[in-house]
Amino acid sequence: MHWRSKLLHSSSHTPEGFRSLSIPIYRGSTVVFDKAADIIDDWRQETHGYTYGIYGSPTVLELGARIAEIEGAHHCFVVPGGQAAIALVYLTFCQAGSHGLVPYSAYGPSKEMAGGLLKGLGIEIETYDPAIGAEIAELIRPNTALIWTESPGSVTMEIQDVPAIVAAARAHGVPVALDNTYAAGVLFDAFKHDVNVCVQALTKYVGGHSDLLLGSVSVSSPELYEKVGSVWNQLGMAVSPDDASLALRGLQTLGIRLERLESSTLTVAKWLKDRPEIETVLHPALPDCPGHDLWKRDFSGSASVFSFVFGPEISAGKVLTFVDSLTLFRKGFSWGGTTSLVMVYPDMRRPNRDYEGRLVRLNIGLEEPDDLIADLSRALDRFGSRVEG
Ligand SMILES: *Cc1c(COP(=O)(O)O)cnc(C)c1O
Repeated sequence: MHWRSKLLHSSSHTPEGFRSLSIPIYRGSTVVFDKAADIIDDWRQETHGYTYGIYGSPTVLELGARIAEIEGAHHCFVVPGGQAAIALVYLTFCQAGSHGLVPYSAYGPSKEMAGGLLKGLGIEIETYDPAIGAEIAELIRPNTALIWTESPGSVTMEIQDVPAIVAAARAHGVPVALDNTYAAGVLFDAFKHDVNVCVQALTKYVGGHSDLLLGSVSVSSPELYEKVGSVWNQLGMAVSPDDASLALRGLQTLGIRLERLESSTLTVAKWLKDRPEIETVLHPALPDCPGHDLWKRDFSGSASVFSFVFGPEISAGKVLTFVDSLTLFRKGFSWGGTTSLVMVYPDMRRPNRDYEGRLVRLNIGLEEPDDLIADLSRALDRFGSRVEG
């Protein structure tokens, strides 16, 4: 053979049996079949063998299998991000003419999809009070195809009575999906609570280092594996094996990171609660958080993200000054990584409350809590003297 052909068709051999502790990164679009008769195109690679890279290389399937194992799911589809996971669930369960329910405390871009893409497809998504509990039954219509839950809610942190919602939905044969990102799939046991579909932004705690975007959609049964899988396959939600490899690495330290993040976050949240400038601390383990008793009943721990609200004497402009005075807390979206973050929501409103720019969200990272408190204290003190002056 010419050397140019040898570049593509090698007869070299490396020894087999390299037993590393790490999971190899398998890249590939084309998968090679042995015989012409073996050629099939099917997304169910667990049962049919490998067919095409879009359905996941072994690295990606390993990540899905491990998340399913930890969550107690029947199967987990790994998708390009948390928002992609939400889209997959919506597009699986809702068609033109469907009605769906989503708490008003849900992740912002999820509600944006409901009012944009889904509305355009003739799907009506109605928002509900996250504190609704069993009364969700009154909102269920004959065409209700999906009920979303997200607990705690994004930014305003409301804990939902997921068991009560599941019971009401079950009575009407409506599937329930849970965005379990806050709980990292572990602090709230979605499938023990009979949720049908559980999604996570793996971008947050599983990734854990702010360097990847991935999502997961886990299902409770073989029927839902077929139903979600068929739409997942049609949408072509392929995932990079390199990102999956980083998420597999993140999983190894998830336990110890969550433990440390919980204790540091509680230290900072409790310190903030005692500050006179602050009216409310919205952290599920603190009694001010709506649904705190449900958190105590249903969760095995708390995580690193929480919000607080300044008192009415503090203007929105002064809140921005406070945020800009922080040095260890970096300003940026997302959370669940190793670095502390601060985010301000000048337009945050809920049907029962306008926060008037006084709501701030923190993500606590792996820094020493004393240093984080010193940073907050400096910013509050500077800002306090301005309030007085
Ligand atoms: C961040 C987040 C998402 C979206 O995740 P991406 O990976 O950024 O798309 C979805 N749900 C919740 C609750 C989130 O916090």
